Amino acid sequence: TRVADLKTITILHTNDTHSRVVEGEYDGIGFAKLSTMFKQFKAQNPNTLVLDAGDTFHGQTVATLVRGESIAKLMNIMGYDAMTPGNHDFNYGYQRLLELDEITNFPILSANVKTVDGTRVLPPYVIKEVEGIKIGIVGLSTPETAYKTHPKNVAGLKFTDPVEEARVMASELKEKVDVMVVLGHLGMDPSSQDTSIKLAQAVPEIDLIVDGHSHTTLNEGMMVGNTLIVSAGEYDKNLGTVQLTFEGNKLIGKQAKLVTKEEAKQTSDDQDVLKTINGILAEHKLILSQVIGKTAVKLEGERERVRKGETNLGNLIADAIISESGADVAIVNGGGIRASIEAGTITKGQIINVLPFGNFIVTKKVKGADIKAALENGLKSYPELSGGFPHVSGIKYTIDPSKSAGEKVTGIIFKGNPLDLNQDYILAINDFMASGGDGYTMLADDAIVNEYPALDEIVINYIQAKQVVEPLVEGRFVEKQAIG
Ligand code: ATP
Ligand code: ZN
Repeated sequence: TRVADLKTITILHTNDTHSRVVEGEYDGIGFAKLSTMFKQFKAQNPNTLVLDAGDTFHGQTVATLVRGESIAKLMNIMGYDAMTPGNHDFNYGYQRLLELDEITNFPILSANVKTVDGTRVLPPYVIKEVEGIKIGIVGLSTPETAYKTHPKNVAGLKFTDPVEEARVMASELKEKVDVMVVLGHLGMDPSSQDTSIKLAQAVPEIDLIVDGHSHTTLNEGMMVGNTLIVSAGEYDKNLGTVQLTFEGNKLIGKQAKLVTKEEAKQTSDDQDVLKTINGILAEHKLILSQVIGKTAVKLEGERERVRKGETNLGNLIADAIISESGADVAIVNGGGIRASIEAGTITKGQIINVLPFGNFIVTKKVKGADIKAALENGLKSYPELSGGFPHVSGIKYTIDPSKSAGEKVTGIIFKGNPLDLNQDYILAINDFMASGGDGYTMLADDAIVNEYPALDEIVINYIQAKQVVEPLVEGRFVEKQAIG
């Protein structure tokens, strides 16, 4: 009968896990339970593939301390079949990504990451044959990576148009596969140039897009034309599942559904994975648990706060930079501050969580006018959240938010007097900003005066020297009241 011909292939997917390997109260299912769920799905249907759509190797100390290796090893045990790199997977430099690709026993795919001469640096696709059905899985990475990570991480690379690459792949795979799956770290943020939605509209040959980047939670996926797009949110809060139904080799149905953290609660931990995680954490703990000092107050690093206003943690970091470098002025991009620290003892691990990018500090000799231009840059979209929001030390500034971008800064005070726009100052910033990150391109051309150690080390040393810190929000950033 016809029914006997029906076959089902299950695709399980994760994205933007950002190294949340441990089950958490506020974040994910955790890798140990996820792994059990993979096994359960495989027990129900041996024709199962497990995919990850990127932003995987970076995020928390469990990953950053060993530059992603821990995550690669865990994914091997869990039995992933393929992944595509997200922008954050380039955070250790692309050479490191290639090393991680050596560690993983599954391919890391991307069709649109190329060297300047046009050579792909990763395999563009893999073909998986499951019960006689050939599934082409094509990787695509967000072109935003080119400016969202430190330029040195992607030096010599270009991120080409995902739509064009997908068209090339579609014609190349046409005769070779029964189904075309795109494993994309593109996202569907409307402000983004290259979304998965745009891709689906432009390349209808794609049957399924497993997406990441915008952290979108789609409970049952989304149809764009005949293309199904799925995305499982963030931090392994959900496991994405897709059932592809075939009559012979013809795809006749696709159905998506998320398994939520709530539904996963009763699942037991995969002991292999759990043991490996605990082993890694125990090793890291020796380093990370080292107490470096105390804070009398909560140090505020929440995204919603540090990307639109002065916080005590922003001030502390900027002060530590001045203390290390002796610069006149320090500016810290709010987007580089990634977590808060509660009042009480502070450990090394907490500081690394706050500052996970491995930035170092540079000083540059700049004109007062450059400092003003830099502040204007960081405030151009104020009061919207912006990674470039400027936390400062050495100066205070006032802004008028009703003014247009580029004209918002109404006053800058340096040592009690207005900053002289024509005078030279020594400005300390992180190397990300120094090379034009977050739009700080006005600083890119100024000569580097000096280079300093890693930012996390600078902050650790500063707190160790003080023993107890109690930074305040003290009017370094003042929004001028509208008059009348
Ligand atoms: P997601 O992490 O949710 O996938 P994303 O990476 O696109 O998203 P954000 O979490 O907003 O976006 O992170 C981008 C911000 O991180 C940048 O605007 C910048 O402020 C900061 N950032 C990125 N790389 C660095 C770096 N090397 N040093 C300092 N700050 C950085
Ligand atoms: Zn991303």
